[in-house]
Amino acid sequence: MYKCKSGQFNRPRNYLSGMVDIVKTDTYRQLLEKELKLLGCSNLSKIVESLLRNAEYATLEEQSGLSASDLRGARRRTKKKAKRILEAKQIKENRRERVERNKRRNKTKFGTGIVSSTSNITKTDIPQDQRDAFYKTQEWKDARDEWKVGKDQVCACCGRRPDPNYKKAPIDRNRSQEEKEFLYNEFNDNRLLVDHILPIKTYWGLRLEKHNFQYLCGTCNKEKCNTISYKDVKKVLGKVKPIEILKVESN
Ligand SMILES: [Zn+2]
Repeated sequence: MYKCKSGQFNRPRNYLSGMVDIVKTDTYRQLLEKELKLLGCSNLSKIVESLLRNAEYATLEEQSGLSASDLRGARRRTKKKAKRILEAKQIKENRRERVERNKRRNKTKFGTGIVSSTSNITKTDIPQDQRDAFYKTQEWKDARDEWKVGKDQVCACCGRRPDPNYKKAPIDRNRSQEEKEFLYNEFNDNRLLVDHILPIKTYWGLRLEKHNFQYLCGTCNKEKCNTISYKDVKKVLGKVKPIEILKVESN
């Protein structure tokens, strides 16, 4: 069933084709090993493995109508694909680990966001991620919408009134940088945001205080950012009643 030419074995393909069930049995394997041993071959298990694999190819060849080299190619491709999938998995895993690590690092850097002040007008230093999270809360959205009722829609800084007919231009990747800037400015001029007069970064206790709210257009809001003027402090704190904070915030 095979030829032995100075240690070279050719595939017993035709002989084994259609016999794979027998070939795969332990009895056959033992017989094969015995015969190979009689011929004085070393490294038996490797030879047996190879013969069995060839027998499998032969059967697959018969069933699929593909040539043995096609099948080997398919096997290589499958292996390559599996490798790629594994690599992608690893990359994903690494990324997840990195995010987790950064989260832990930020926690030590910024603290856990606990407000230790006991008064609503005590100065704080609230990290960006906590502020971002606040703007997503229902608590903020409710307070903001409640405040909006009956308010004149005009920017408290520049007096701009957004054009009610303004429509944001549709996304177009081919725009020039100049055009993009123009459209962005136009968009910013035509939006009104509810701004905290005294920024919540510094006055976390006033984040839901309606005396601390004002309308600003996008442009003025961008310019103001987290700056605090003496006038603003006087204006807001003059109206706010200092209270002891009973609830301690944490994220
Ligand atoms: Zn404005």
